[in-house]
Amino acid sequence: MDDALLERAKQGDADAMALVLGEVAPSVHRFGLRMCRSDADADDVLQDTLLAVTTHLRDFEGRSSLTSWVFTLARTACARRRRGLKNAPPVADDAAAERVSEGRSPEQEASARELSAVLGSALEGLSDEYREVLVLRDIEGLSAVEAAAAIGVSVEALKSRLHRARSALREALRPVLEPEQSPTTAQCPAIAEIFSQKLEGELTKDACAVMEGHLTTCPACAAACDALRLALGACRSEASATVRPAVQARVRAAVASFRSLA
Ligand SMILES: [Zn+2]
Repeated sequence: MDDALLERAKQGDADAMALVLGEVAPSVHRFGLRMCRSDADADDVLQDTLLAVTTHLRDFEGRSSLTSWVFTLARTACARRRRGLKNAPPVADDAAAERVSEGRSPEQEASARELSAVLGSALEGLSDEYREVLVLRDIEGLSAVEAAAAIGVSVEALKSRLHRARSALREALRPVLEPEQSPTTAQCPAIAEIFSQKLEGELTKDACAVMEGHLTTCPACAAACDALRLALGACRSEASATVRPAVQARVRAAVASFRSLA
């Protein structure tokens, strides 16, 4: 986010505010959909968050990144709605149908859609805590530092939760992504967590060499790493879905409310 733009929005420039809100709105809406599991609740979370941004942006001091701060607001809005909705039916993932499809063959497009649907239901089955960290870090692409700030935990705690969440995701996708593999043996390391540590730059050179060595002799663990890599790639393309008209409408409404207050 451009600092000058942010400054203008803080000073009450409605056009600048519209650009700021337009930039954060799609992420907030996706977060709401994943965490609240209902279109209506996600719309409400988006609206509450955008209004909170317009009201409080001038108090934002930049101690965390703007993204972290916005997700802190979104989490608060989401938590209010999520209470008592634990057994709500999962929302149909129509975002898959809206995915950007440039440069893909129809076959690639079909398998990407399939993977996206499988990923969606795997995420549904995870705990809120795991789903949240995967949404922030692996779908929305926040850095570990930003995701930790948004959730309000230490970076160390965030990463440890992330490794466990990715491992749980891999387990959930296992019947689909590793159907032919024989199970890992008692000699195998916790490969998904270790692979996740490697992705976060936490493995020492020696630990990395040990892992690579194991992968050359163990097809099961090698398949697990491939599956996790594929799943995380699919997570990232979840964030490239085109913006829904409903999201743009919420941005316009929040900007209109901001103008009327100015
Ligand atoms: Zn192994």
